[in-house]
Amino acid sequence: SLQDRLQSAFKNLRGKGRLSEADIDATAREIRLALLDADVAVPVVRAFTARVKERALGVEVSKALNPAQQVVKIVNEELVTILGGETRRVRFAKNPPTVIMLAGLQGAGKTTLAGKLGRWLKEQGNSPMLVACDLQRPNAVNQLQVVGQQAGVTVFAPEAGNTGGGDGGAEGTRSVGDPVQVARDAIAEARRTLHDVVVVDTAGRLGIDADLMQQARDIRDAVNPDEVLFVIDAMIGQDAVQTAEAFAEGVDFTGVVLTKLDGDARGGAALSVREITGRPIMFASTGEKLTDFDVFHPDRMAGRILDMGDMLSLIEQAEKVYDAEQAEKDAERMLGGTFTLQDFLKQMETLSKMGSMSKLMGLLPGMGQFKDQIANFDDRELDKVKAIILSMTPKERDDPKIIDGSRRARISKGSGTSVQDVNQLVTRFFEARKMMQQMAKGGGMPGMGGVPG
Ligand code: GDP
Ligand code: MG
Repeated sequence: SLQDRLQSAFKNLRGKGRLSEADIDATAREIRLALLDADVAVPVVRAFTARVKERALGVEVSKALNPAQQVVKIVNEELVTILGGETRRVRFAKNPPTVIMLAGLQGAGKTTLAGKLGRWLKEQGNSPMLVACDLQRPNAVNQLQVVGQQAGVTVFAPEAGNTGGGDGGAEGTRSVGDPVQVARDAIAEARRTLHDVVVVDTAGRLGIDADLMQQARDIRDAVNPDEVLFVIDAMIGQDAVQTAEAFAEGVDFTGVVLTKLDGDARGGAALSVREITGRPIMFASTGEKLTDFDVFHPDRMAGRILDMGDMLSLIEQAEKVYDAEQAEKDAERMLGGTFTLQDFLKQMETLSKMGSMSKLMGLLPGMGQFKDQIANFDDRELDKVKAIILSMTPKERDDPKIIDGSRRARISKGSGTSVQDVNQLVTRFFEARKMMQQMAKGGGMPGMGGVPG
């Protein structure tokens, strides 16, 4: 499976202290083969592998993570990205009813999805109505009525607009009727009966079909849907690309629903469809029951594909511990009297963060005496500080005492600031350092009740 293949790709990295370009090449090749094997579309595989490789090559030597962990982390992040990053929610209309139209091949799972959506929408406090616009297939209207009844949701069908349960009408016979007119009538009916979401089920064929695509387009133009959901069977493999492209061109959908994910061991369509169509995957179906359905979460899907939950939480943990240790070391060094311009810059960054925070929450309690400093500290000032420090030589950064008049002039020119700005920064640095030294001598924060050293 894709999971196993990816994991064996990472196994070769284990125990390595540093990754050579050859290591990364070999891993990228393994990942590429694993994705191709899982029927991920070829251009998507190419783009994905290139991104992982580029990031793995550019990665800094991390003290928190070993190389294998770093590559796993990158692959996980790229998987989330390719699956769409964030969950995309349904866009509801300002003036109800919100219209959601379903499109896709026959057997993709549209009618089942209509029932699932109906149930889900009702659970969210909406009052949905399902509309039977598949008049091609005998029994299609009845099938929608059955799922509607299971979901406890109203169904609008062509025969005199009967609602749920009742006689199927079209049962066993090929319905004649105009699906576009049915869709129009349904919207009017929903408005009259105060249904706030209308889900329009449509017909599909086994292959791409020009007449049916035209019909879907006509329905779309008649009801002006807020969402057009392209429903696709996750098991169709490499055909996913061609089908998705045909529907993108044919009806220009706004979102994708993946069905039959329960039967898809490989995850290929899931990984391809977002990148190929540029449209988000919004829902996932994982079985025949109405409850086998959920909003699509890219991070959870990536987790499922990678199947390395333990490793990922280990990585998160390692990074947290490392950050904490680093902060402690910084504090020790600062209090030990070796306060450098680098530390100063960090302090400025903290101040700047507090500045934007104080604007949000009012001033922090106990920080009254620093009020002006904090409030006056904005990001522009931080940028200036950064520019000045970056224009110093390493020697000057280590030992700011050597910064004389001519050095100040050079630094101000290099950083696009005034000599006065440079003076001010150097003065503030020495003040901050003095304060640090006083704190180190056990005086606490000067002016905050401590005994000055
Ligand atoms: P439509 O032609 O697009 O309307 O597809 P249907 O809703 O009629 O579904 C076709 C078949 O797929 C039915 O037998 C459904 O029960 C089944 N089906 C739909 N969604 C899923 C799913 O997520 N998982 C599984 N295993 N079967 C599904
Ligand atoms: Mg159907």
